[in-house]
Parts: sequence; structure tokens; C-alpha cells
Amino acid sequence: MNPPLVLDSYARESRRGDKRRLSVTGQHASNEQRIRDLGATLGRRLDDQGKSAWNPEVHREDWHVLIGRLTSGESDGVVIFDLERFLRQVKDAVRIVDLAKLGFKVFDSDMEFDLMTTSGRDAFYKQAVAAETYSSRLSEKVSRGNLQRAANGEGKRGRYRALGFEDDGTTVRESERPHIREVDRMIRQGGKPWREAVAYLAKHGIFSTAIKHTTECQETKDSLSAYQLRRYACECKGEPFTENGLQKAMKSPRMAGYSRLGKNLVGRLPGEPILDPPDHQELLMLITSRRGRPPAQIFLCTGKVPMRCWNCATVFTQRQSSHGAKYADRDEVKRTYLCDKTAGGCGKTIADRYVLDGHVRDSVVEELSSAESAEELKRQREQKMVQRAPFEKEVTRLTRIRDHWDRQLNEGAEDMTIERHTFLVSDLNRKIKEQKAKLREIGEALAAPPEAESREAVLRKWEAAGPEGQRAMFKQAFSGRPFYVMPGSSLDTDILDRIKARPRLSA
Ligand SMILES: [Zn+2]
Ligand SMILES: [Zn+2]
Repeated sequence: MNPPLVLDSYARESRRGDKRRLSVTGQHASNEQRIRDLGATLGRRLDDQGKSAWNPEVHREDWHVLIGRLTSGESDGVVIFDLERFLRQVKDAVRIVDLAKLGFKVFDSDMEFDLMTTSGRDAFYKQAVAAETYSSRLSEKVSRGNLQRAANGEGKRGRYRALGFEDDGTTVRESERPHIREVDRMIRQGGKPWREAVAYLAKHGIFSTAIKHTTECQETKDSLSAYQLRRYACECKGEPFTENGLQKAMKSPRMAGYSRLGKNLVGRLPGEPILDPPDHQELLMLITSRRGRPPAQIFLCTGKVPMRCWNCATVFTQRQSSHGAKYADRDEVKRTYLCDKTAGGCGKTIADRYVLDGHVRDSVVEELSSAESAEELKRQREQKMVQRAPFEKEVTRLTRIRDHWDRQLNEGAEDMTIERHTFLVSDLNRKIKEQKAKLREIGEALAAPPEAESREAVLRKWEAAGPEGQRAMFKQAFSGRPFYVMPGSSLDTDILDRIKARPRLSA
């Protein structure tokens, strides 16, 4: 009696539209049942997971292992799951037939091909031709479909849900919008490190969208239409973002309302984008340039704030104590502000960071809680609103034009090609960005007319403001009128008497 045949089991990634959607494990189980039914024994389980069966450019490693085993006689044949969807090219079929002359057998999970007979080979060829035709038609249809969807403003659906969007990749998930905007603000304006942004999102229950769904959940999701998916929710848990993962998610053009296919921007998503395109551009630049580098710490009294050296009117820089001396009351190396010779200063004025910061805080709180200050702020607010008006009007006008072009592109207006749209819109975006830069220069007008506030209320606001916010309050409180610090040492614990309203030269 002959020894039983050795048959390998070959499986591959199942796709939407396969006649039976089975996991790779499920396919092997089905193949192995067939191997037992044939009275054969299992050789090896081979599969090329995650590789498209109809993309001829994909290298399928296990497939080559299979051919090798058949050629060398380690295996007598193979059971292939759903064979007619597997054969991607007639070329492969010819090769298999050639190998069949060495005596191996190919079994479909459903139907048997006996390649030793003419009718068996014929049936096999026919299936291969049908498969190739189907493949090329399908892959054409897939890319055409994607392009059409992208042009309609629908995002291409990736493997995971895109942060900020529902499963359709198009509809903004409103519950995430404010948190994404906050992350953008933290990074771009707050100078916060990415790990804080990750922690912020986790605190608000927003995790990486690369969720490992359970098998049951995945099978349920696969059976739903896009419309049903939008209403589908599951309990499968995600992990907190990695810093890199969050950066990648924030870089997506979707965040600024662009849908994208390959390298070309081809459409606008419907509705209000999560981030304004110019802001998103800025964030992109920041991510690309800052990647891996910790963001610079922001100090209250350096650079563009109303604080100067009394002796030479130079702005301050800051430096860590070169001896590594620490503060008595906190685990932190001492820092000083200094009038830096290497930055064109006189080098005579030094002040401890916390002493000077503390003085600024007290002065700002004092100033902003006074009734005159409320009056002054009211006046400033009105002035700013007048200054801002023409630029705001221009931004509105330009945005309306951009919306019009977006609509033309999305509705497929005859003379609106993707290239033309990209050109027009990038020019507009540049103009909008210029207007917004001017608005930033003028500064935000207070949202509501200011009321005189209590000292405690202003202090609370100060504590909550963060470094950039405190610098803004500092500038606002004194309308940019600078303080001057007289020469002295970093050891002074009170420098009130060193702070003057005018510099030496005009004294
Ligand atoms: Zn799930
Ligand atoms: Zn100086």
C-alpha cells in the first residue's frame, strides 16, 4: 500500500467580497478538513497574510516556499482555499501545470483539479483565466472607486479609524474635535511636549485608533454597510497613543479638511475642518522640524516682553546655574535672567528667575485688578476691534472664494481640474495666512468688555495661564511699556528697588 499523500495547506488574506470570508486560521482549518477527507496528511501550513492576491507587484513569500516544496518532492500537492480567487495570473497557472507534470496535485477547498488529465488541466486554465480577468477588472474598479470617492470628498478608508473621524473617514467625530484642537493649541502655542498631549487625550478617554478588535467584533464590522458602521460602537479597547502615533495622526491632511489619495490632494471633506488649514500647516512644520527634539522651555522675562536691562536696555536671556546649585525649596537647578554680553548686552544685570517672575506676577495682578485697568482694557479692546475689522473681512471674503472652488471641484465642474484647484487654493491659502498673520500681530481683542476683577480672580487666571498665556497677560497689563532692572546679583531675594520705569540713559 502506498504511503498517504503529503498535502500542504495554502491560505491567504480574505477580503470583502470573497465567497466565504474566513480568517487565515479558518481557511487552514477548512483545508485540513479537506486533506483528511482525501486520506492525506498535512505537510505545512503556508500563507501570505496581508498581501493582496490580485496585485502582481506583491511578492508572496510562502507561495515560493510552496513551489519549492512541490518541486523538491517534500510535498505531493496542495489544498488552496478558494482557488479561483487565488490565481492572479494565467502565467502562474501555466507554471502550475508544468509542475503538475512532475505529478503533484492541486486541490481547491471545494473542487478538485486533476492536472494529470486533459480535462482537469482545461478546467484549471479556465478558472485561471476567469480569475485573471476578474482580478484586473476588480483592481481597476477599486482604484477608480477610490478616486471617485476621494473626489466626492469621502476619505479612503484605511485599516483603522482616523482620529477625529467616524469609521467612514469623512464625518468628523464631534466629541473628539475640541480635544484635537486643544492638542494643536498645546503644541503650537503652549510649547507643550507631545507626551503631555498624549496624557491629555488619555485623560479624556481618547486612545490610539489602532484598536485590536476581537474576532467577533471584526466579523460584525465587516458585514455592515458604511451607513450602519457609522452607528456601530464596540467595547474593544485601544492603548494610549505613542508620541509618534499621535504626531502621525495630527499630520493627516484630513485634519485640515482635505481628503487624499496617494500623493495628490483631490478633494475637500464636507463641513467645517477640525483645524484651520493655515494652523495645520504650521503644526506640520513644527512636527517636521521639531521631531525628536524636546520643545524649548518658555521663560516669562526673556525676549519679547516688557522687561529690559536698566543699564543698556537689552532684553534678557536666561541661563542655568553653572555650578548646578539647586533651590532650597524645590528640586530644580537655579536659573537666572541676565543681560547677556554675547547677545549685545552689558553683562552687568543678573536676577534670579523666580524672584523676577514673582515680582512680575505681583505687578500684573495688581495692575489687572484695578478699576483703571478695566477702563484701559476696554479702550484697548475697542481699538483692536477697529484695527482687526478690515483683515477679518478679507479673511471672510477669501474663505468664501475658496469654498466656491471646493464646491466646483467636488461637483466636478468642467474646467475645474485637480491641478487648477490645487494651484488656486494654495494661492488663496497663502493670502489667508498672510491676513491671519496680520491679525495675530494685532492680537486678539478680548471676547467680552472687561470688568474690574478681584485680585484673587486675576491671580487664579495667572496661575492657570501657562507660560505663553502669562507672557500675554504681562504685555497686556502694561500695554507693552517696559520695566528696567538695575544691575545687581542673582542672590538678591527681593529686587523691587532695582526695578525702574525708565532706563539709565533717559534718567
Ligand atoms: Zn471592536
Ligand atoms: Zn545691560
